[in-house]
Amino acid sequence: MWRRPQPFIAFLVVAEVAAIGWFVHVFLDTPAPTRLDLLRFAILTAGATVHIQMTRRQEERRRNRVRTVLIDLTAVWVFPAAIILPAQLTIALVLLIRIQHWFVARRPAHNFVFSSITHMLAATVAHQVFVTLGGTHWDSLTVASSFGEFGKLVLVGLVYEAVQILYVGSILSLAAPSRPTVHSVLGSKADNLLEAITIGLGAVTAIMLVILPPAVAIMAVVTVVFNRLAELDQLQDDVRTDPKTQVYNMRGWTESAERALSRAAKSDDNLGILMIDLDYFKWINDTYGHPAGDDVLRTLAQLLDDVTRPSDVVGRFGGEEFLVLLPETDQATATGAAERIRSAVAELRIGTTGKRGDQITVSERTASIGVAVYPDHGDSLVQLMQAADAAVYEAKEGGRNQVRLAEHRPQHGANPTH
Ligand code: GH3
Ligand code: MG
Ligand code: MG
Repeated sequence: MWRRPQPFIAFLVVAEVAAIGWFVHVFLDTPAPTRLDLLRFAILTAGATVHIQMTRRQEERRRNRVRTVLIDLTAVWVFPAAIILPAQLTIALVLLIRIQHWFVARRPAHNFVFSSITHMLAATVAHQVFVTLGGTHWDSLTVASSFGEFGKLVLVGLVYEAVQILYVGSILSLAAPSRPTVHSVLGSKADNLLEAITIGLGAVTAIMLVILPPAVAIMAVVTVVFNRLAELDQLQDDVRTDPKTQVYNMRGWTESAERALSRAAKSDDNLGILMIDLDYFKWINDTYGHPAGDDVLRTLAQLLDDVTRPSDVVGRFGGEEFLVLLPETDQATATGAAERIRSAVAELRIGTTGKRGDQITVSERTASIGVAVYPDHGDSLVQLMQAADAAVYEAKEGGRNQVRLAEHRPQHGANPTH
């Protein structure tokens, strides 16, 4: 944490000290809880504990992931507390939940403190807003008044989500090493939708807690199942991603490429395919070891991502071979793109470790690139990949470190014996 930008550290420390001060104030300023409050607190704590303990394995998997996806369903338990319980019990509940999380998914302490404060802040602000709006009147509801009460719940739910987004967003925008994007700061649509659904489940939990407390047990089951479902999205991404380089694997690349190809066919467009094979890659493994080879592969994947357009599709074919799909690209442009990649590879300097863990720099590496274009070199993805692969072979034969365009296929109807 201390290596982050200074404004980030300053903001974080000030915000956290201020937030903790406010929690202490709230804690001391709230009248002692009634027995009913304590009973409800116990029910929420039990529900949250079941939820956390039954999804431990998943949390561990999440911790081991490179990309961080927020599948945090804590709001199912904290949101009802914010609405129903006095503030000091809400803070206590967040603490109990976070301590369990700490044991399940150990993360750096500053992350732990930051997330805990985010939840407490969202909960206490939502609580204040709800109290200001008049609190619950759920024992004598008419259909008409229930709409008013529901409107209050929706409003407070929005406040809860907004506090989280604003607090996390402002921290992320200061922490980002490069220019922050809307996406990196505010989170993906999927993340925010998930959070909104979670708060909705929290509202249902609140209603049950007041009207029919034992039914909160149903919510414990729902959250465990929902927690597992939320992982599906991630898994769907995973089956299309090469774990080593984080670009598409063949399944993902082929799916994208088939879609692009049928679009090109419909609109009579060209489409380019590059097959990129590193030259003498085995030498890197033999000389510096396989971890160094892996670093080179990762760097190459990153380079391909950087030098191509957002609409281009980068995939790992296998080993040290990569594919790039270039929509709406003719022979000249595809060859130009391949040349750019070839010279970028030649300029790469990759810092990594040698066989004895010593720091080394891999440089002066080269690649051979085959280029095939639809419809000039084939109609189907298989034909195009074969054509690009044959062109790679030509490039290797020709002395490596070069770009080769595929051979034109024989014209339709040409006599195959000539
Ligand atoms: P050429 O110039 O003819 O392409 O020679 P090359 O050494 O690049 O090609 P060759 O096919 O002989 O060797 C490819 C090597 O790539 C062999 C294999 O051990 C290595 N390799 C394949 N996948 C991985 C991987 O994921 N990580 C590492 N470190 N090496 C890999
Ligand atoms: Mg190869
Ligand atoms: Mg090779």
